[in-house]
Amino acid sequence: MSNTPAFPAASLLGYPRIGRRRELKKAVESFWAGRIDEAALDAAAKEIQLGTARRLVELGLTDAAAVPGTFSYYDQVLDAITHLGAEPARFGALRNAAGELDLNAYFTLARGSAEVQPLEMTKWFDTNYHYLVPEIGPETNFAATSNRIVEQFEYALANGVETRPYLVGPVTFLLLSKASDDAPAGFNPLSRLEDVLPVYAELLSRLAAAGATWIQLDEPALVADQDIPTAELQAAVARSYSVLAADGERPAILVSTPFGALTELLPTLAQAPIEALHIDAFKGALPSPAELALLAGKTVVAGVVDGHNIWRNDLAASAARLDVLKAAGLNVTVSTSTSTQHVPHDAAEEAQLPAELRSWLAFADQKATEVVTLAAYLGDPASSASAIAEATAVIASRAAAAGVKRPEVRARLAALTTADFNRSAYAVREAAQEQALHLPPLPTTTIGSFPQTSEIRSARARANKGAITGEEYSQLMKDEIKRVVELQEELDFDVLVHGEPERNDMVQYFAENLEGFDVTVHGWVQSYGSRCTRPSILWGDVTREKAITVEWAEFAQSLTQKPMKGMLTGPVTILAWSFVRDDQPLGDTANQVALALRDEIADLEAAGIKIIQVDEPALRELLPLRRADQPAYLDWSVNSFRLATAGAGDGTQIHTHLCYSEFGVIIDAIDGLDADVTSIEAARSRMEVVNDLETHGFGRGVGPGVYDIHSPRIPGQAEVTELLGTAVQHVPARQLWVNPDCGLKTRGYAETEESLRNLVAATKEVRAQL
Ligand code: GLN
Ligand code: ZN
Repeated sequence: MSNTPAFPAASLLGYPRIGRRRELKKAVESFWAGRIDEAALDAAAKEIQLGTARRLVELGLTDAAAVPGTFSYYDQVLDAITHLGAEPARFGALRNAAGELDLNAYFTLARGSAEVQPLEMTKWFDTNYHYLVPEIGPETNFAATSNRIVEQFEYALANGVETRPYLVGPVTFLLLSKASDDAPAGFNPLSRLEDVLPVYAELLSRLAAAGATWIQLDEPALVADQDIPTAELQAAVARSYSVLAADGERPAILVSTPFGALTELLPTLAQAPIEALHIDAFKGALPSPAELALLAGKTVVAGVVDGHNIWRNDLAASAARLDVLKAAGLNVTVSTSTSTQHVPHDAAEEAQLPAELRSWLAFADQKATEVVTLAAYLGDPASSASAIAEATAVIASRAAAAGVKRPEVRARLAALTTADFNRSAYAVREAAQEQALHLPPLPTTTIGSFPQTSEIRSARARANKGAITGEEYSQLMKDEIKRVVELQEELDFDVLVHGEPERNDMVQYFAENLEGFDVTVHGWVQSYGSRCTRPSILWGDVTREKAITVEWAEFAQSLTQKPMKGMLTGPVTILAWSFVRDDQPLGDTANQVALALRDEIADLEAAGIKIIQVDEPALRELLPLRRADQPAYLDWSVNSFRLATAGAGDGTQIHTHLCYSEFGVIIDAIDGLDADVTSIEAARSRMEVVNDLETHGFGRGVGPGVYDIHSPRIPGQAEVTELLGTAVQHVPARQLWVNPDCGLKTRGYAETEESLRNLVAATKEVRAQL
C-alpha cells in the first residue's frame, strides 16, 4: 500500500442480502428443487446485489467502498470456508476439476447429502442468525478455492458501484471453528493460523488487482471472551494483521469489531498496520482517552448507529459520541455498530403500522440515512441540526405514548414475591405426574410443530385477505390438527402435540395475541440459509386480554386418550426473536411477558391439559459475550421462565425445549429453569451433550434429540438406536425422553413420517433391552 485511500465518511457494516421481497430465498429454493438452473440463480443473485448497491447510493452512501459487499448465497462463514479451502475431509472430494469449491459444493456443505451430514449450525454472537461451523484439523488443505468474492466485486464495479468486499477475518474464522473429526484430542484450530493467512493474502491481492480500494475483515470474536489466554489471542491478532498488511498489492484494510467493546484487543489492533478500525460505539462505553490516543493515524469507523435493533437513533446522543472521538484528534467516519443484516430493509414499507409507531423505527434503509446525517454532522454540525432535533422530538413522543406504560402491569410486577417464582420440590411433582400420566420408559414425543404444508400457508394467506371467513380458517386448522393427531396415534407416540398449524411463527403468533406488540408485513430477516423470520416489535407494556392457545389445545386433547402437550413460547425467546423496546431493562420486559404466559398456563390446566411445554430455544442466544455480564443475564432470564411456569400444579408436567447443544456454559441455568422435562438439540452434534448432562448430574427428565430436522436427511432406525444407546450410557433411562432435535415445521411430510417411524421403532428396540 502506498497511498491510503480515504475511508467513506458514511458506510454500513453490512446490509440484508435476502432481497426486499425475499427474492434470494425464492431463487435458492427453486435451484435446490431443480426448478431453475445455476445461471438463473446467478442472475437473481446479481439483481439483488445491484439493487442493494443502487439503493444505498441513492440513500447517500456515495463514496467509493461505502456499500458493503456483504451479499451471500447462504452464510458469510460458509463463504469463508469455500474461499479458504476449509471443507472437511468427511465430505470426500468436493473440489471441481479447477480445484474450486463451486456452488454445488457450497450447498452440499450447508445441507449435507444422503451420505454426509451437513456442517453444524450455531448462532452468530448474540443474534438469531445462524452460521455454519467450520471443522478444522491438521489435514485441512487451505487454498484459494473460490474467486466468487472477486467476481462479485467486479460485477458491481462494472455496473458503476465500487463496493467494499467482506470476509470473516482469520482470527474469528478459526475461533469459530471446531476441531475436525480427524484431529487429535485437544487440537486447537487457531494453531493453523500460519496456513490460513497466505490464502487471505492471496484473496486480498486478487481483490486489489480487480480494483478494490478497501476490504472489510470482520473480527467480532474479538469482543467476546474466549477460552484461550488473552496474550495468545493478542499474539494471533498481531501476527495476522502484520502478515495481511505487509507490503504488496492489497486493498486498504478495515477490521470491524461489532457486538461490543474491544477492551483487551484494542491496543493490539491499534498497533497493527491496518488502515481503519471499526468500533461498536453504540453498545457500552467508548474507549478511554488513553485508548483513543493509540488510534491516532488510523481511520476510526464509529459504529454509533445500532445495526441489531430497529429503534430510531438518538442522533443527539450519537453526535455527542462522535464529538468525543473527534475531540481526541481522530480521523472519524460514521457507520453502524453491526451489520444491518439483522434488521429488515425498510420501515417505510410498513404502511399498516400506526404512523406514530412507524416514526419510532429505523430499518436498514433508515439507518443508512442516519449514518449519512451523522457523517454530515461531523463535516458541519449545523447541516444536521434539524434532523437531530426531529429525532429528539420523536424519541420524546415515544416515551409519552399511550400503552408504553400501563399502571396495572407495573403494579402486578411490583407485588411479586419469591413464592411466585418457585414450585414444589421435584420429587413431589414427579410422583404427582407419574400418577397423572402413566408414561412408559423412554416416552416418545415431538417438539411441537408438524410440517407447515402449502395448504396450511395458503389457508392462512386466504384468511388474511378475507377470501375465507375466520370460521372456515378455524375449521381447516382443526382438520389439520385431526390429521396430525391421527398420524401420531398411528406412529404410536406417547405424548402428542397438536402440530401448531395455526401459528405462522412461534413468537409472532403470541405477539399478535398480546397487547404491547405490533407485527410487520415485509420485515423479514435471515435466520439461516434461505430461512427467514419476521420479528415482531415489542414496544409497550405487555398484557393478555384473552386466552390464546386454549381452544386449540382443548380440541386436540378431545381427539385422543393420550396426553396432549400444550405449547407456549417462553418469555426469553419472545424477547430474543422480537425487536424489543430499549427504554427499560430486558428483565422487566421479560417478566411482563411471563405474567401473560402464567395466566395462559392456568387456563390450559383448567381446560384439562396435563403437560405444557414452554419453549426457550433462545436462552443461549442472548447470553452476553463477556463472562462478567453473564450472571446478571442468567438471573433475569431464568427467573422470567420460573415466573411464567411456577403457578402450575404439581401434577402438571412442565416441559421446555432448547435448540442447541452447547450446554456446558449454561447448564446451571438450564437446571435453574426447574422444568420437569427438557428437550435439546443433540443429533447434529452426535449426542455430545449427554456428557455435559452426566457431569452435571442433571436430575430431571431430558430428551436429547435423535433426529436432525435441519436437514432433509432421514435418520435410519439403526442410527437412532445407536444415538439412544449412547444416551442411556450417560443418562439414567428413567429420565430419558425420545424426540427430534426441534419442531418439524420446515420439513416435508414424506421425510418426517419415515423419520418418526424410525424414531419410534428404535425406541421400542432400546426399551426392550432396558
Ligand atoms: N414448539 C416449537 C416447534 O416445534 C419449537 C420450535 C423451536 O424450538 N424453534 O416448532
Ligand atoms: Zn428447537
